[in-house]
Amino acid sequence: KAKEVDRGYYQFYSDQMNMENDRRQEILRLLPNALHNDEFHLVLQPRVAATDQRWSSIEVLIRWNSEVLGFVSPGEFIPIAEGSHLIVDIGYWVIREALRQFADHYDELDPDTVLSINLSPKQLEHRDLTRFVAEEIRKTGIPAYRLEFEITEHSLTEESETTLATLAELSNMGIRFAMDDFGTGYSNLGMLQALPLNVLKIDQRFVQRVETGGKDLELVRAIINMGHTLGLTVVAEGVETAQQVALLTELQCDELQGYYFYRPQLLDTLLGGLQREVTHS
Ligand code: C2E
Ligand code: MG
Ligand code: MG
Ligand code: MG
Repeated sequence: KAKEVDRGYYQFYSDQMNMENDRRQEILRLLPNALHNDEFHLVLQPRVAATDQRWSSIEVLIRWNSEVLGFVSPGEFIPIAEGSHLIVDIGYWVIREALRQFADHYDELDPDTVLSINLSPKQLEHRDLTRFVAEEIRKTGIPAYRLEFEITEHSLTEESETTLATLAELSNMGIRFAMDDFGTGYSNLGMLQALPLNVLKIDQRFVQRVETGGKDLELVRAIINMGHTLGLTVVAEGVETAQQVALLTELQCDELQGYYFYRPQLLDTLLGGLQREVTHS
């Protein structure tokens, strides 16, 4: 009897794995066309200064409305694209399109607002990245210091020469770097200090637990203090409640980002809303 139960369980388990694998293969098959058929678009999410809520950055987040699969979240398709060269092509599309939009709305944005773009580890391994970015900056006329790349700890696990060289080149051009999802990966404090970083973004799973107080709150306090010791601007991501805002501000967190302030949305909508607010006041 026990054996039958076991077999049933493994049957279920392997059906599940086959389904996941089919979906993965399907996504992998559809991604190249998605790029050519214009199925991607960008949404932007501001992050704000804790003190006066001015926009310190707008972060670019990719969206995919597949003709075949409907909406597929980047949390699902980016890791799949990262398993192949596709992430490099998608990444170049994101950089080019984001810079174009930023340039189009340049005069409507505060001069302190930077454009933040997420980079996958594979993109930093691609030797053309620096040249590509330099060329797009030149074409759009956006100053390098208005650009920020968000990388994760996963970019650094292999300590590759190319990645470190690319980071140095881009940083020497004046581009800023943020460490995204901090606290979820393999952290090496020596590495953090050695990298050309400007910003530390505390992962939302820590941020959302500050309300429970106790050790969770103390952990966030420790991360913020460590970031400041390293001379970094500290950002909390995934801020959803007024209580989180109050606690994070009390802990001296510099900048905040999350649904409490803004949901990611089209840049036109975001700026349209802002203009309306201004006209009403
Ligand atoms: P991320 O860079 O850490 O972005 C934050 C994610 O949290 C976004 O999910 C955002 O929509 C979501 N978020 C923002 N505020 C809140 C909040 O208050 N509560 C909750 N629950 N979520 C919030 P999204 O857009 O689904 O993106 C997921 C991840 O996919 C990103 O995490 C990033 O790692 C990756 N990604 C998105 N766009 C790109 C891209 O253009 N290139 C690359 N390489 N990766 C991207
Ligand atoms: Mg990010
Ligand atoms: Mg993040
Ligand atoms: Mg993330």
